[in-house]
Amino acid sequence: MSAQFLSVNAKKHEGWLDWRWQLRNRIQSVDELYEYVNLTADEKQNIHMASDVFPMAITPYYASLINKADPQCPIRLQCIPDYRELIEGQSDMDDPLNEDSDSPVPGLTHRYPDRVLLLVTNECSMYCRHCTRKRKVGDNNTSIMDRDINQGIDYIKKHPEIRDVLLSGGDPLILPNACLERILRKVREIPHVQVIRIGTRVPVVMPQRITPELARMIKRYHPVWINTHFNHPREFTPDSIRALARLADAGIPLGNQTVLLRGINDCPMIIKKLVHLLVKSRVRPYYLYQCDLSRGIEHFRTPVAKGIEIMESLIGHTSGFCVPTYVVDAPGGGGKIPVLPNYQLSMTNTKTVLRNYEGVICVYDEPKNADFVCPPACAICKDHNIRHESVGLEELFDPQKQVISLVPEGNLRKARYTVRESKAHGY
Ligand code: SF4
Repeated sequence: MSAQFLSVNAKKHEGWLDWRWQLRNRIQSVDELYEYVNLTADEKQNIHMASDVFPMAITPYYASLINKADPQCPIRLQCIPDYRELIEGQSDMDDPLNEDSDSPVPGLTHRYPDRVLLLVTNECSMYCRHCTRKRKVGDNNTSIMDRDINQGIDYIKKHPEIRDVLLSGGDPLILPNACLERILRKVREIPHVQVIRIGTRVPVVMPQRITPELARMIKRYHPVWINTHFNHPREFTPDSIRALARLADAGIPLGNQTVLLRGINDCPMIIKKLVHLLVKSRVRPYYLYQCDLSRGIEHFRTPVAKGIEIMESLIGHTSGFCVPTYVVDAPGGGGKIPVLPNYQLSMTNTKTVLRNYEGVICVYDEPKNADFVCPPACAICKDHNIRHESVGLEELFDPQKQVISLVPEGNLRKARYTVRESKAHGY
């Protein structure tokens, strides 16, 4: 958006630069859209139907980025409801990441060994049409209460293995400063929490929220990392760039999580431009997400092959720190699985054959005497072994455990073997 367009809006709407005004004036009905987008009668009807099931809320700022005349505008597709949200996809799930089952207390997900996700609100400044938590976001029946947050904080206190707490939602930065500060203070007071992270889309959809006061407040609870969610180069405006600069100037390390979306950013050139703009604003491209199997977003999904194609065009073709990790969040709750083009072509005991981004094939000679034994007195190792149990594939490498195979639950061969064993022993 041009600076000129911004000032027109700022002049037209007195509160434009105030985030509370942006929140109060969110567009929640079709009639309010007239200022921002041209709609046919059919399109209006479609929006009505879709927003009855999955609510609509768009900040006037984000709506002002829509190209009025383009039905395929990437901004429009991310914020305006579409009848395709109502089509049941054959793989759709309400909770594809199984977050509910990994919740020992309401609003907290403990999936990975040393970190948790703490949901602090269900509200967002805008309801993204591709949201993976569509089932919860904006739903008043599943509001997150102070009581839930306190229970989550108590859980973290009782689990010394948790060193990293991700505040998410909804969007944590929609909370007033005092409320957010209360949560940050309580989490920071827990001695074993080393890092606090905040996941937010506010710099993209309501950058006015990133005030100097907010940045100063967050700075008091360092180390705090922020992950934001830019999906398209068009989301870079003077306002969003200023918001990112304010956070970076407060010493907050910034990362970005992009969702790969059909018809919006599923193109190597778009993603390349996006990662360059991110890095220019001191934001490290962190993840490129394959779209989840959530209900109502099937029309946004691309084949995994599209993600691989995009990674091919990034790795080696641009600076390493511009390249995000492409991940599929495992359906059923297995966590994020990195997916890469294949660079390792073959291997023997003495050589590994690799190819580079240009297709050049090379051989890496393995070291002659590769045996290495850890010094038994290594303090880091000792400390690690006291605190941590090896998990998953780690077990195969753990000399203490002597595990030789990992067998999935429900394996039929294993079940037959157990029955034979029982019979042999007359059980
Ligand atoms: S801001 Fe995040 S949580 Fe909120 S609707 Fe958008 S994607 Fe979902």
